[in-house]
Amino acid sequence: MGGIFIVSQILRQSAAFALDFVFPMTCASCSEWTGDEGLRVCRECSSKIKILAESVPICSKCGKPIALSDGLEYNSPHKNSSAVCLRCSVTGDILYDNVFVPEENSLREKGVRYNASAYCGVRAAAVYDGILSELIIKFKYQNAERLAAFFASLLFEAYGRYPEISSPDVVAPVPLHPFRRFTRGYNQSDLIARGFARMSGLNYRESLLRRAYSTPQQAKLSAAERRKNVAGAFAVGRRSLDSVKGKKILIIDDVMTTGSTLDACARALMDAGAAEVFCLVVATD
Ligand SMILES: [Zn+2]
Ligand SMILES: [Zn+2]
Repeated sequence: MGGIFIVSQILRQSAAFALDFVFPMTCASCSEWTGDEGLRVCRECSSKIKILAESVPICSKCGKPIALSDGLEYNSPHKNSSAVCLRCSVTGDILYDNVFVPEENSLREKGVRYNASAYCGVRAAAVYDGILSELIIKFKYQNAERLAAFFASLLFEAYGRYPEISSPDVVAPVPLHPFRRFTRGYNQSDLIARGFARMSGLNYRESLLRRAYSTPQQAKLSAAERRKNVAGAFAVGRRSLDSVKGKKILIIDDVMTTGSTLDACARALMDAGAAEVFCLVVATD
């Protein structure tokens, strides 16, 4: 049974690779010919992606667009604004009340409240809807490794728009559990982060973080279940400690929804002595 599964995975991935080879110049979204420019997504489809924070104010903490229902002021562009969305300003007390937090913990020494997010902030390149959400789903559940370069370029442009992510010492992906990495054939965050690090010339460490244990897939869980699900799921490997201590770290992922995965990563890094953790994602809802 397992053998058949693995063979089918290999066949599926080879088929996707072959298609990529035969039709390298078609848009990953609409399948139209993109000509000789080597674009992964055609100009028309790209123009439909809602790039953040060009026109909408975002939360200075989680980076999500601030909804009108939050009742906050909108006239200030995000770069001068310390506006925090309603979610970031109220989740505090309820966020970690069910989660075990060890007494001896570097965050406590640093005076960081446990119920506050461990990351300094999250920034997203674009809004998770329409064409971009379709592309990300394709990228995740079918083999579409060539999309990684497209997402990396979205991140690179976003990195230029968010000066608050000040020159990180190390860039690292959200790790995938080794078994899931094997069945999928790749870690989508690693592919994107690797491309981004190459473009930005930043120092890249694929295995800075590792999964301490496998967690059920987040997609089917509620927000509260997600937080419990990933709390303590990540750890810094002993060989990576020197790359973490006192360093500014940038974590890369494809999508942020509740932020619980990024927070769990940041928590592990802060516990290992990181100076600051920022996160950059392709899309946020
Ligand atoms: Zn297209
Ligand atoms: Zn927020």
